[in-house]
Amino acid sequence: MNKATRKAVIAGNWKMNKTPSETTALINEMKPLVAGADCDVVLCVPYIDIPAAVAAAEGSNIKIGAENVHFKASGAYTGEVSVDMLKESGVEYVVIGHSERRQYFGETDQTVNLRTLAAVNGGLKAIVCVGETLEQRELGYTETLLKYQTKMALTNVTAEQLKNVIIAYEPVWAIGTGVTATADQADEGNGYVRAAIAEAYGAEVAETVTVQYGGSMNAGNAAELVSKVNVDGGLIGGASLKAADFSVIVKAASEG
Ligand code: PEP
Repeated sequence: MNKATRKAVIAGNWKMNKTPSETTALINEMKPLVAGADCDVVLCVPYIDIPAAVAAAEGSNIKIGAENVHFKASGAYTGEVSVDMLKESGVEYVVIGHSERRQYFGETDQTVNLRTLAAVNGGLKAIVCVGETLEQRELGYTETLLKYQTKMALTNVTAEQLKNVIIAYEPVWAIGTGVTATADQADEGNGYVRAAIAEAYGAEVAETVTVQYGGSMNAGNAAELVSKVNVDGGLIGGASLKAADFSVIVKAASEG
């Protein structure tokens, strides 16, 4: 990464794992292992685990995030959670447009944009996920798709609001599969995202935006991935459920 213009962020995405008591135990285990990290450390947890996560992380360098948020402020949207609800609960970050939400829950580029706008307008930091499927990659659409998804997600987001947006490049074929993009593929994908931001906001602004890589990042491959100039940390699924592995990734980003 380019440490002169941006800071690495390592964010865990717990997906649908851990009960509240397991949350407390895992964060207590992680706290001493990630203390003093030279990168931002975030854990995005299921809604029900947020109070336990916020309490366990208090006084540490771990920030808490949610895994989704609704774009309306309030109303008849059964089962949904608003920005204000998250903020009042101590949440600082939110994952938006994860490929599992796009794949299983009808998330579209339009709703990703609405959620991103709601998050930044309401004072949350958005971790917006983009990424191509294997079929799209094999057809040669990776650059086009990443630029399209990035620009769609950022429609009507101002340059000032962009300071509270992180983009996570997550090739769908690498998520939860154990197949990691090579460091060069990650750097290239992140580069396409940064180029899209440059086209929309200018190169100087694009240099300041944190672009993470996500997709089977683990204790063994993190150092090589974050050594790439465009890889500003990672969004970590499976390996964020193991304190020792997660702390190795945090260390790699601190030193990278
Ligand atoms: C993710 O959930 O965003 C992710 C990258 O998962 P995994 O690290 O398990 O591939």
